[in-house]
Amino acid sequence: MTLKFHNTLTKKKEEFKEIEKGKVGYYACGPTVYDYAHIGNFRTFVFNDLLRRYLKYKKYEVKEVMNLTDVDDKTIKGSQKANLSLKDFTDKFAKYFVEDLKTLNIEMPEIMPSAVAHVKEMVKMIQTLLEKDIAYKGDDGSIYYSVEKAKDYGKFAGLDLENLKAGARVSHDEYDKENVADFALWKAWDKDDGDVYWETDLGKGRPGWHIECSAMSTKYLGSTFDIHTGGEDLIFPHHQNEIAQSEGATGKKFVNYWIHVSHLIVEGKKMSKSLGNFFTLRDLLEKGKDPLAIRYLLLSTHYRQQLNFTMDGIDAAHNSLERLNNFMIMLRNANGDSKQNVDSFCELAKKKFEDAMDDDLSISDALAHVFDFVREINSLENLSKNDALKVIKTMIEIDSVLGVISAEEVQLSEEEKELVDERQAARKNKDYAKADTLRALLEEKGILLEDTIDGFRIKRK
Ligand SMILES: [Zn+2]
Repeated sequence: MTLKFHNTLTKKKEEFKEIEKGKVGYYACGPTVYDYAHIGNFRTFVFNDLLRRYLKYKKYEVKEVMNLTDVDDKTIKGSQKANLSLKDFTDKFAKYFVEDLKTLNIEMPEIMPSAVAHVKEMVKMIQTLLEKDIAYKGDDGSIYYSVEKAKDYGKFAGLDLENLKAGARVSHDEYDKENVADFALWKAWDKDDGDVYWETDLGKGRPGWHIECSAMSTKYLGSTFDIHTGGEDLIFPHHQNEIAQSEGATGKKFVNYWIHVSHLIVEGKKMSKSLGNFFTLRDLLEKGKDPLAIRYLLLSTHYRQQLNFTMDGIDAAHNSLERLNNFMIMLRNANGDSKQNVDSFCELAKKKFEDAMDDDLSISDALAHVFDFVREINSLENLSKNDALKVIKTMIEIDSVLGVISAEEVQLSEEEKELVDERQAARKNKDYAKADTLRALLEEKGILLEDTIDGFRIKRK
């Protein structure tokens, strides 16, 4: 099967065709570094990671660019409140963000450009838009994009522009559909910006948020590139404006495939601080939640479906991961003598996994196939070391996409392994007293053995 995505641009599921054979240019809107990112943000970032890992699995050479928005309305306000320079304030949250990505086992993008380091490129793009008469200087000294000059402005976001008021302008970075208007590319300095400004050919001021992504994506990926992702809340105005700016400046199609991730709710309700269901990743870690279980929960619902994120869901995800990790332990300790046809099991498992992922990254189906595979292999008796190694290889390949199997493995000594085998044999013979004695013995040696529906799991204390 060929890889297909739902493309917001065409509102259809489409076969993916890269511009340059074997390579993918991929831009992901990154965080605004004014606070800790919350789990709603991380749903998108985990999806971005799943996508990049799957593209790599499909042998594409991926160049992912994820920006850090370190100058906009929110960062300026935040730094003033914290009484820090904009740089000190945003550096701090950028550092936390990168730490959080690592905690969630999210691979680093190839390039993470900061907006303040690319003001020159933004100024240049705005100048081009001025020269082409698509942008104009307002009487407040700011420079605005004239939406009526854009080809099909609003089409991407599905807006009806009949009620658009000519000459209406908006200078905020974020606004809603009711306020479609000419938007600010460059904001002339005013006292609210304090010491945040650049002296440029456009005057004293700072860039608007939307131009940041247009200028940086073009710089690193060219005028037209393959994939652009983001949360669905960015479709309007942010992505609509990115398209208008970039296509206005270059005269070329901006992006071939737009992929948007649906939002999440927490415990059945919209996440909000007042409801007490607002969580950053750090809040969950403080509650003792396992980061890989959080990753698993965030990625296991299809990206176009709303995800109901719950504490029970994290615990269930944790159990699913334990099944996978115990499966790996079982494989690493396999030493049987039976000959099984594991090659065909492995091949089929990979094919099913790929078919599901190729179909618009249908992760629920893909995961179901992985667990079917685990069940099938578990049902084989006396797996040989050689066969187990083949299964391990398949699991590692699949996990290069999922990124959820923990590297840590429980190595059992010969003596410990014998005790585990003896205990399982006793249990099988319904000699529960003996099974319990052996389990207690293992526990004395620091090994926790717990029975599960499909076998048992082992942990070291
Ligand atoms: Zn963006």
